Amino acid sequence: MQVRLLGCSGGACAGLRTTALQVGDDVLVDCGTGVGDLTLDEMGAIHHVFLTHSHLDHVLFLPLLSDAALSLRQGPLIVHALPETIAALKAHVFNGVLWPDYTRLPSPHAPYIRCEPLTLDAVVVLPHCRITALPAHHTVPAVGYLIDSGEASFAFSGDTTYCAAFWDAFDHVDNLKYVMVETTMRDSDRTLAERSRHITPSLLAKGAAHLNRPVQLLVTHIEPDKVEEVRAEVRVALGDRQVHFVQRGEVFEL
Ligand SMILES: [Zn+2]
Ligand SMILES: [Zn+2]
Repeated sequence: MQVRLLGCSGGACAGLRTTALQVGDDVLVDCGTGVGDLTLDEMGAIHHVFLTHSHLDHVLFLPLLSDAALSLRQGPLIVHALPETIAALKAHVFNGVLWPDYTRLPSPHAPYIRCEPLTLDAVVVLPHCRITALPAHHTVPAVGYLIDSGEASFAFSGDTTYCAAFWDAFDHVDNLKYVMVETTMRDSDRTLAERSRHITPSLLAKGAAHLNRPVQLLVTHIEPDKVEEVRAEVRVALGDRQVHFVQRGEVFEL
């Protein structure tokens, strides 16, 4: 099974897309602007969306995805998210003003979008993988995800500041292959990072110290205007530990 990075930037502009991962053909984790690069057929094949949190860079394309391939999709688009994230989407996006309420249209019994509230540690079993919500600590309720194909697992932090419970949550996962963590800001922006609850390079190193097995550490969600500075700080903070700075379009085999 493949995880394809449709978007992995902390911002959007020409050539950069915000967070979205395609898991197999029919699952997305987050729904940022990277989803706009899918073809109509690829959009029609998406049946599940797992959201980390309500911030716009992670949910922006959900209304458009739900609308783009209505005639191609069999059954509803199933959105898995924390209850607070679902409430935010219903109040601020699918409210009949920004977008029609696809959680109740065309009929409340058979809507275009079906919301499935998540709880931490609950496992969603799909035909080709199991997805588990992981703890995260952000300015709004948030989760990360563990994606397990059976062969290998991919842990993703979503947006979070340093959260010991996130790093400890996959300590027992024997087939862990990748850990992808946001590192949005420079250490010199630490005050802002604390306020906005993001990770800086020194906080990444603090988290990576929890890793007690040989996994590939991936860094995502860097602010677009600070990429080179954040990368340089990460290399210093991590010392001998190998790290990979992900790029849009990369594919990871699970
Ligand atoms: Zn966020
Ligand atoms: Zn974000």
